[in-house]
Amino acid sequence: MRLDRFLSESTELTRGLAKRALSRGEVTVNGEPEKKGARHVGDEDRVTWNGMPLALVGLRHIMLHKPVGVECTARRGLYPRAVDLVEAPKAERLQPVGRLDVETTGLLLLTDDGQWSHRVTSPKRACAKVYVATLARPLAEEEAERAVAAFAEGLWLEGEEAVTRPAELELLDARQARLTITEGRYHQVRRMFAAIGNHVEALHRESVGPLRLDPTLAPGEWRELTEGEVALF
Ligand code: URA
Repeated sequence: MRLDRFLSESTELTRGLAKRALSRGEVTVNGEPEKKGARHVGDEDRVTWNGMPLALVGLRHIMLHKPVGVECTARRGLYPRAVDLVEAPKAERLQPVGRLDVETTGLLLLTDDGQWSHRVTSPKRACAKVYVATLARPLAEEEAERAVAAFAEGLWLEGEEAVTRPAELELLDARQARLTITEGRYHQVRRMFAAIGNHVEALHRESVGPLRLDPTLAPGEWRELTEGEVALF
């Protein structure tokens, strides 16, 4: 790969700024200053910029503890975007894997690996997503039993052409429930509780498939997935 391209792929520098860094003598290859952007570098070459060793940024897979008030969109809008919380080179290439509402907290995956993202979200895989919902109205015992049965059977949501896939509802207390769903329809969890006459006041995602939110991540914090975690999908 050309050195100017290598610089722009491994740092925040644009191709133009990379050329300027080269002409200012800020770049070395194998310990020697190098000013030519057209020079080819390979795996065996050691490149530095202002003394900092550089490596190509490969495909990234990130877990973020999404806080309230952050959007999962690609375009800048009313709220800060999830990708803006990830301070890493080329973070703008990252895309959320599926979406969480602005008000929802918890596990959000971000990646620039389109095939991996597709494997996680593909309806064929029916990957389980686990949420904890805090409800506006306490569920009485009988009502809770009916809700468990209705969610297991599938519900008609307004404007949809098919009932929801069987979902597992576990009451944690009168106002908190853990819900496992295997699809990702628009506002699905909120609409499922609305369909049984309740309202979700807070929603938190605990896991996506075998991947649980790392409990050491505070809201707004993120980390790279390990190779083993990436290989789970
Ligand atoms: N279901 C919802 O209603 N909201 C989310 O953010 C995720 C699932």
